[in-house]
Amino acid sequence: MHNVVIIGSGCAGLTAAIYAARANLKPLVIDGYEPGGQLTLTTMVENFPGFPEGILGPELIEHMRKQAQRFGAEFRAGAVTAADFSKRPFHVTVAKENFQAKTVIVAAGASARMLGLESERKLIGHGVSTCATCDGFFFRGKEIAVVGGGDTAMEEALFLTRFASRVHLIHRRREFRATKIMLDRARANEKIHFITPAVVEDISDVDKNSVEVVLLRHTESGKVSELPVEGVFVAIGHEPNTKVFRSILDMDENGYLSTNNGSKTNIQGVFAAGDVQDYRYRQAVTAAGSGCMAAMDAEKFLEAAGH
Ligand code: NAP
Repeated sequence: MHNVVIIGSGCAGLTAAIYAARANLKPLVIDGYEPGGQLTLTTMVENFPGFPEGILGPELIEHMRKQAQRFGAEFRAGAVTAADFSKRPFHVTVAKENFQAKTVIVAAGASARMLGLESERKLIGHGVSTCATCDGFFFRGKEIAVVGGGDTAMEEALFLTRFASRVHLIHRRREFRATKIMLDRARANEKIHFITPAVVEDISDVDKNSVEVVLLRHTESGKVSELPVEGVFVAIGHEPNTKVFRSILDMDENGYLSTNNGSKTNIQGVFAAGDVQDYRYRQAVTAAGSGCMAAMDAEKFLEAAGH
């Protein structure tokens, strides 16, 4: 029987683990499909307080993991395949293993949707990014592309005009999913150049480990063209990793967990932290902050229950 089972090992889960471990609760962390979360897919992180020279995302995560282990957190590889929160103790299943928990912190994160290209996967962190707030600064004076037609794509494109000399917004349809106000704002910005309807067929140069050219295909004419850019921001949405909690935990229409009064979910003793419940900020530091909140809420819950 575990005092706290933490689902997810990104910034939120690891911060929750540090706090819970230091409260002597010996938390168990289930790593998830993507151990370390989205930070492991980035290179330099320059906005996490405390690192004036910046720190590599995977290194930051490694530090957090060691910090949690130092205070007694335990880790299990694998992803949660089933959960039963209908009564206490809660049950969490990872493949064939079953864990019992007095409290659970869900910090399973959200995964950025990707285009699915081999070159995109190889160049992520080397010119391909899923976060303008994180990486925009590296593209000062450069020409870049943003892919997507929703509010996120508009927001990222607008933000990136602060740094880039030109932002090409590539969308697969002529119609946009973005709200009118966001679309109008993007259209009014003279640094943003719309390319529609077009899809990204490939990104090169994988051999040079940097982005130099995007291969575009016009979806109506079928015409293929090359667009020289130094960065590609994929902004086609995120998927919160909450499938396994459907009909168990309250979530919004996009699948993000609903929290109230701090990190509380609709089930007493189950808390949520990080991107799994936050589509707005999605930052390492906000995920870490909410992981701390969830651990403190779990600790208070256990105390009140007399554990
Ligand atoms: P979204 O609304 O689902 O839009 C995703 C966009 O990416 C769509 O235009 C979609 O094209 C395109 N797309 C999806 N898969 C693709 C693929 N494989 N290849 C090429 N294009 C692809 O996602 P979002 O923009 O992240 O927004 C999510 C939610 O957050 C929305 O409710 C949004 O309003 C909200 N949000 C609000 C704000 C704000 O108010 N400031 C900011 C950000 C997000 P199609 O249209 O052709 O499907």
